[in-house]
Amino acid sequence: MSKLGCKCGHVITDQTDSLPYKASLLRDEVENECWDEVHRELKPLVEAAESGDKAAIAEAFGGFAPWSSATDELQGRIASIYIHRMSNVYECQNCGRLWVQKDASDRFVSYVPEEDAYGAIFSVASGESEKRD
Ligand SMILES: [Zn+2]
Repeated sequence: MSKLGCKCGHVITDQTDSLPYKASLLRDEVENECWDEVHRELKPLVEAAESGDKAAIAEAFGGFAPWSSATDELQGRIASIYIHRMSNVYECQNCGRLWVQKDASDRFVSYVPEEDAYGAIFSVASGESEKRD
């Protein structure tokens, strides 16, 4: 999603990283599956590295494409696991309405906050002020 029109008329844009009004949602039903898959990706590499055996390390990294570095390849695999299970959530900066992505589709459903205002609930700065209370 790069743009989402809110019911209040505001257009929520997602064209850069580190947005204070965006969060990722991992459904509890897939959380264990997600971590199991991350573990399956890391286990052979960690075991090979711990062994110190260069042949074992080469074999563990053998599935990687020769044109990319092992670090980039592993990062890509982990990111892929994450991206395929996460849904996006946006908070409208005008009305505070939450927009939750339905499954992996392009559809979003909205939820109206009690205060009827933007609360910056996904902003790191907002979370820090909560901790001081
Ligand atoms: Zn809105």
